[in-house]
Amino acid sequence: MPAVSAEPTEALCVLTVHAHPDDETLATGALIAELVAEGADVAVLTATRGERGDVVRGAVAQDRGLGDHRAEERAAALAVLGVRSSAFLGDPPALGAGRPRRRYLDSGMVWVTPEVAGPAPHAGPDALTAAPLVEAAADAAAYLEWFRAQAVVSYDAFGGYGHPDHVACHQIAVAAARRAGSPSSAMIRISVGPAMKSMPTSPASSFLAAAT
Ligand SMILES: [Zn+2]
Repeated sequence: MPAVSAEPTEALCVLTVHAHPDDETLATGALIAELVAEGADVAVLTATRGERGDVVRGAVAQDRGLGDHRAEERAAALAVLGVRSSAFLGDPPALGAGRPRRRYLDSGMVWVTPEVAGPAPHAGPDALTAAPLVEAAADAAAYLEWFRAQAVVSYDAFGGYGHPDHVACHQIAVAAARRAGSPSSAMIRISVGPAMKSMPTSPASSFLAAAT
């Protein structure tokens, strides 16, 4: 699935950094829709295609890879939310200068408690969590700079509920914002899952005003 690559505009540019398809909707869908309604330009950077997600039996054709299926679902969701710019980490323009194109894979997870996730065994050498932070952050920073993001939205340090890819995305987003060196970049930490306490209720403009 190719990245949506609308050219940056003069509107307020907000970059959201997520781990898997559907996270953009589940964690920030309402925020994105409201920001877009208020005239902001919102981009979604997704680190993996969620190849190791749980599937309801029969919901996905068996001859298709789950990652490709989820990438299509993501594209449809972004269209509904009004997102004009998106990329997968490792695909241009979310690719650091001089670095080879790369597909970061879903690292998987196991439930440690009914509400807390932890690393799955055998994540594999291409998993997001196996990638050196400096490399993933360089790819994210390239996209941040391309999009001219003025605010960056990603998970808290616990990834909301402990999923290793969400934790990695927090680290990548923080490092990318730092690396981009834009004084106007602001990191807004959100929680997802059972602890969805810090999501703003409304309006989006006051949420951003408080954060920048
Ligand atoms: Zn996720």
